[in-house]
Amino acid sequence: MTEALPQGAVIGILGGGQLGRMLSVAASRLGYRTHIYEPGTVPAGDVAHRVTTASYDDAAALRAFAESVDVITYEFENVPAESLDLLESIRPIRPNRRALAVSQDRLTEKEFLRDLGLKTAPFANVETEADLADALQQIGAPSILKTRRMGYDGKGQIRFSDPAQRDWTGAPSVLEGFVSFSGEISVIVARGADGAVAAYDPGLNVHEGGILRTTTVPSGVPQRLVTDGVLLAAQIAGALDYVGVMGVELFVTPEGLVVNEIAPRVHNSGHWTQAGCAVDQFEQHIRAVAGLPLGDGKRYADVVMENLIGDDMDRLPELLAAPNTQVHLYGKAEARAGRKMGHVNRIIR
Ligand code: AMP
Repeated sequence: MTEALPQGAVIGILGGGQLGRMLSVAASRLGYRTHIYEPGTVPAGDVAHRVTTASYDDAAALRAFAESVDVITYEFENVPAESLDLLESIRPIRPNRRALAVSQDRLTEKEFLRDLGLKTAPFANVETEADLADALQQIGAPSILKTRRMGYDGKGQIRFSDPAQRDWTGAPSVLEGFVSFSGEISVIVARGADGAVAAYDPGLNVHEGGILRTTTVPSGVPQRLVTDGVLLAAQIAGALDYVGVMGVELFVTPEGLVVNEIAPRVHNSGHWTQAGCAVDQFEQHIRAVAGLPLGDGKRYADVVMENLIGDDMDRLPELLAAPNTQVHLYGKAEARAGRKMGHVNRIIR
């Protein structure tokens, strides 16, 4: 069993976006400090003890960062493997490297899920034009070609409506059969260093233009599927010997739940826990990474989380005046289209 970090210990976080910001706030509530490592703009910097601004392949900066912290976690999954090797030679990384490796590559991820016996969309590896033709023959259309690495918020995806279509950027990809789903839910699951598992009630997710728009809890899906979702998320966390919070995105279909993807970190669809639970996903993650017992993640309110994207910020006066509404802003100066500026949690019951 991992010993709990003492008060005042420093948690290193790779990535300094809004997730790192909210993790830092949670860490400080538990008496810890955070050191953010981020090459770009740093919304987390305002609330962190320390910030390193350097690229993810700057060996000297990575080394100094690792030596200044007690444990390393991340809110950004695409850190190069060699950089992780270097960091891991100095301090433990939680969640572990396997969780990162599995989720960084859509093909590895799909194979891992299939080998666990979980349902995924039918998929095929695409590395050459000939592979694409074979994959389209095997899987057909409609289907979606997704780059194996670095895709998020629907980026790096091409939809195929006709098996004769041949659009392809040349990047190693996976062709996925289109899943006809009635809804998308996600399970936010936490696993402690002692192996204890706590899952939040699944939320119903609505996307717009590939970006999460709202998450609603309860999700309205039958209890049987809620149970299935929680059990499969716990199975994934256990199989990875995972420590921390993970998001598991699921399609609801007449044949049951189909796993879309896993995110080895706190997840946008878990922001509602800030208003719905005694211990939210950010605190839960910090507890796990720091070797503390997991907290009570039971849902005690019905909540709708809405992302504030781009000029949604113009609605701020009205949102601030709304009853039963929590406003979270990320301190980003420029409200560009498609940029997540904040979110609101509306307690509806
Ligand atoms: P992803 O980046 O994989 O999370 O995909 C973004 C969104 O595209 C998902 O939330 C779904 O709405 C949709 N999508 C992705 N993969 C599939 C699929 N195989 N079948 C149907 N819809 C999908």
